[in-house]
Amino acid sequence: MAEIDGSDPCPLCGRPLPAGPATDWHHLVPRSHGGKAQLRLHKICHQAIHAHLSEAELARDFATIEALRAHPGIARFIRWVARRPADYQDRSKWTRARRGS
Ligand SMILES: [Zn+2]
Ligand SMILES: [Zn+2]
Repeated sequence: MAEIDGSDPCPLCGRPLPAGPATDWHHLVPRSHGGKAQLRLHKICHQAIHAHLSEAELARDFATIEALRAHPGIARFIRWVARRPADYQDRSKWTRARRGS
C-alpha cells in the first residue's frame, strides 16, 4: 500500500485529493489505541468514517482501508460521494457531533 503520498487519490473514495484545507489525516488505528499510520483523505470521507465507527471498532476491525471500504455504511457513502465534486463538503449529512482523530 502506497497511498500515504499526498499526490495519490483519496484512498477511501478514489477521487483526486485537492491541495489545501479540504483534506484530513486519518489514523488507521486511533491514536488513543497506539496507532501511528496515517492516510490523507477528503475531510468529508474522514467524517464519514468517524460517523459510522467508534475508535474501538476502528482499532479492532477497521484498521485497514480495505476494511473501511467494505463497511456497508461507508460503501454507501463512497457511492454517494463519487458523484460529488472533489471539494464538496456537506457537514449536515454525514457528520455527527462526535469527532475523532
Ligand atoms: Zn475521499
Ligand atoms: Zn480519523
